[in-house]
Amino acid sequence: MKRREILKSGAAGIIASSSIGADVWRKSAEKMKILVTGAHPDDPETGCGGTIARYSQAGHDVTVLYLTRGEAGIPGTGHEEAAAIRTHEAEAACKILGAKPLFAGQVDGDTMVTNEWNKKIGSIIASEKPDIIFTQWPVDTHRDHRACALMVYDAWLYGGRKQAFYYYEVMTGSQTMNFNPTDYVDISGTIKRKWDACFVHESQKIRETYDQDHGKMEIFRGMEGGYQYAEAFVRLQQSKQGILPA
Ligand SMILES: [Zn+2]
Repeated sequence: MKRREILKSGAAGIIASSSIGADVWRKSAEKMKILVTGAHPDDPETGCGGTIARYSQAGHDVTVLYLTRGEAGIPGTGHEEAAAIRTHEAEAACKILGAKPLFAGQVDGDTMVTNEWNKKIGSIIASEKPDIIFTQWPVDTHRDHRACALMVYDAWLYGGRKQAFYYYEVMTGSQTMNFNPTDYVDISGTIKRKWDACFVHESQKIRETYDQDHGKMEIFRGMEGGYQYAEAFVRLQQSKQGILPA
């Protein structure tokens, strides 16, 4: 290749990348729909509550889709009663974060990944028409978290790979494993709203252990990302780049 051709191809590369940037910029001025999915009430809040608050604060629509109502999550309490308590907590948390809660109808501790459920989750996601999807990371010690990740990925894949797709982490080291972030969101300005949304899950006693797990993660991801507090994400390589709060 001659020098002139090299320069030409280099210039084309720059134009191509700046046109992607221009597209992102144009879209960022529009109202977006964000869908955050999680297995249980409290997973989306602890994993990306600060980011949810940033989106809603910027005027975007955020829906939180819970796979279950946390039926098995209160020791000594029956499924029906626990579901009622935890549904109420999830609704209160979403109100604090400025999001709309939705429940998919599976049962905590007994989640299923079947063709039928893949289709159901696919149709819920299709009807929400999100621009960006967030879900749990599939390598996780909790079976329900893995189920959530698989079904949401399946919905994205068979839905035509239309949305930007990001994974979030929860209790990394004891639940999420092998998570190497590609993106960081500064949540220093929304951290208090995130804490309020997490602590409203009183049945889970999150406040008592927060500093030992999610609190440490927010600080560490902040150190990595160059912020006081941050949440970290892995973008699915095949998905388009989403607009994360800058
Ligand atoms: Zn969970």
